[in-house]
Amino acid sequence: MTEQEGVIKYDLVFHEADPVIDHDFTSLTRWHRRFKQAGILGQHAERYDGLGFGNISERLDEFCFLISGTQTGHLVNLAPADYALVTNADVSRNRIEAKGQVKPSSEALTHAAVYALDTNIRFVFHVHSPDIWNQRAVLCLPQTGADIAYGTADMAIEMNRLYQQGAFHNKKVLAMAGHEDGIIGFGCTGDETGEAIMSYWHI
Ligand SMILES: [Zn+2]
Repeated sequence: MTEQEGVIKYDLVFHEADPVIDHDFTSLTRWHRRFKQAGILGQHAERYDGLGFGNISERLDEFCFLISGTQTGHLVNLAPADYALVTNADVSRNRIEAKGQVKPSSEALTHAAVYALDTNIRFVFHVHSPDIWNQRAVLCLPQTGADIAYGTADMAIEMNRLYQQGAFHNKKVLAMAGHEDGIIGFGCTGDETGEAIMSYWHI
């Protein structure tokens, strides 16, 4: 099953607010640029009906994380105002509370589900790589089921299963079989997260 990119499926409580500026965006900026250069985050007329794809986040504390805003894929660089601050996420109830100048990525619930796996996880990156996704079996990547849609409570259960089994925990990268080209990585630092994903790219 494949599905459209960019559609927000969760219940969103959103408040317009000033962007977070008292934060070091160095890691997010670096990896946004590298993923864009690799063509695995962005926006392209011939991919996914022209909708933006890929999103990045950084955790600030147990509950809050910054995440790139919805449909910011066309931007070359992201400014603080291009990130939303998720202040509360209830994955089982499909609910996100966020604030900022822009609404959070449509895949914010998936990011929240990864952060819920372990409080040590500080970064979550989601990219769209046909190279990695098509080779996911050869690369022995853990996979969420083909019938599991992104941004759902089922996806959270599936990721927890893969994490507890060890495969997702160890590789820090998984492929979303039900989300075309969808790859998720996590780590304690931006570099750990980005390098984990890129280690599978163009193998
Ligand atoms: Zn996606």
